Amino acid sequence: MEIPFLKLNKINEPFSAAIKERIAKILDSGWYLLGKELDEFEKQWADYCGTKHAIGVASGLDALILIFEGYKELGKLKAGDEVIVPANTFIASIIAIQRAGLVPILVEPNDSTFNINPHLIEEKLKPKTKAILAVHLYGQLADMDTLQKIATEHNLLLIEDAAQAHGAMWEKKRAGNLSDAAAFSFYPGKNLGAYGDAGAVTTNNSDLAEIISSIRNYGSTEKYHHKYLGFNSRMDEIQAAVLSVKLETLDQETEIRRKQSQRYRNEIKNDRIQLPQLRGNESSHAWHLFVIRTEDRNGLIQYLAKCEIQTLIHYPIAPHKQECFKEWNALSFPITEKIHEEVVSLPLNSSLSDEQVSYVIEKMNKY
Ligand SMILES: *Cc1c(COP(=O)(O)O)cnc(C)c1O
Repeated sequence: MEIPFLKLNKINEPFSAAIKERIAKILDSGWYLLGKELDEFEKQWADYCGTKHAIGVASGLDALILIFEGYKELGKLKAGDEVIVPANTFIASIIAIQRAGLVPILVEPNDSTFNINPHLIEEKLKPKTKAILAVHLYGQLADMDTLQKIATEHNLLLIEDAAQAHGAMWEKKRAGNLSDAAAFSFYPGKNLGAYGDAGAVTTNNSDLAEIISSIRNYGSTEKYHHKYLGFNSRMDEIQAAVLSVKLETLDQETEIRRKQSQRYRNEIKNDRIQLPQLRGNESSHAWHLFVIRTEDRNGLIQYLAKCEIQTLIHYPIAPHKQECFKEWNALSFPITEKIHEEVVSLPLNSSLSDEQVSYVIEKMNKY
């Protein structure tokens, strides 16, 4: 039985007819940017997340950068301010901080949840520290209650990188509505994926929302009047329509992910495999990725490849070991480094059949 990690054409197949119809209308309409499809999706995404505002932008990375830039325009951040961020995040979180002229301060994660360890934050705080960027890595919500406490106590902004956590919930509030502002990615492989790049910012802060809607469009508030030194980062009408169609069944898709992860967690029984840990209840994890740990990673990957089960590594190299961050290469983050040596992602998505999940479990147990 061949099990690919992710086949996007199979994931998108159920929506294909509806999406083609919507796209055909847009092509014929002659209106491709900042039109009614984006307006509609922004309302739907804000409703879904429970926030006052959602602003569609070109990517998840841009969503993060525009949040920081928006806060700079509001006078809440300035160049050189420090931002706390987990050391084991996907590189985009850290790039965004630097691209906005801010300084990333890396903090080790909790060993079992992969999310930032709040207890290690206070020792890193300095007068220049102005924000915490929480990342809901692999789809599991970071410990937002504790992070909010720290943020309130030290007067810091709390921002979510929710690129992997569409729909995850903490006490009836969804990712995107657990902080001052949140960034989402709709990269095709994310839980809610477009047919290309797209992203969004969610927030309850109307001033920030207004600035971000303006700076994503050359900083203009009225055509050819430029209040801010802006960017070109608009979500196009086609992506907005694709996302509107797919949003209708996002919760069902997430439910499938949760069931599959439950089966993996209950049925994989192997001393050499460390399964992912839930910090809250089932709804606090959107299961973007099912990430296990094992000491002999290459051995496991090769064995699974022989069984025709494709795996991926999220992520093989820690951010501080990347070539683009040479100045950090000699720093030591032992928990992060060990995670990057041991993690393997198993296939988990709505196109997998029950038989395929059973097959993965069987092979994992025989390893
Ligand atoms: C995907 C991702 C991003 C960036 O999103 P893009 O749409 O690819 O720019 C940012 N942060 C995290 C945690 C991600 O997984």
